[in-house]
Amino acid sequence: MPLYTFRCLDCLNMFDIRLKIDETYGEACKKCGGVVRKYYGNVRLAPSVMPTRSNVDFAASKANEAAKQRDMAAYKRLRGEGHQPPSINGSADLERRAGTKHEINSGVILKEEGRKRKENALNEVLGSG
Ligand SMILES: [Zn+2]
Repeated sequence: MPLYTFRCLDCLNMFDIRLKIDETYGEACKKCGGVVRKYYGNVRLAPSVMPTRSNVDFAASKANEAAKQRDMAAYKRLRGEGHQPPSINGSADLERRAGTKHEINSGVILKEEGRKRKENALNEVLGSG
C-alpha cells in the first residue's frame, strides 16, 4: 500500500498513512480536530535512488588518485631533466618505459619489436641525449 502524507489545514500537523489506492481518509486531525488533506508539498524519493557511500567505489578512486600522483611526480622529474612530456597523464608510464627522449617528448613508446633499430634511427635524425 502506498504511503500518503496528510496535513491538517488548521494546525498544519503532518502525518503519514498507508492507504489502498482507492481508499480515502476522512478522519479529523488528531491534534486539533481540524480538516486534513493529502499533502503533495514534497516529492518523496525512495532511499534506493539516493546516492550513498556504498555506491562509491572507493578502491577505484584511491587507485586513480595514486596513479595521478605518480603521473604528476614523474612529469615533474621529466621536466626537471629538460624533457617535455605531452601531458601529465601517462607520464609515469613514459618515465618507466621510454628508452629515448624522443619517446618522452612525443608521448609515444616504441614497440619492442625493432626497438633498438628505431631508437638508433630516431637518435640519428633528431639527435641523441
Ligand atoms: Zn490539526
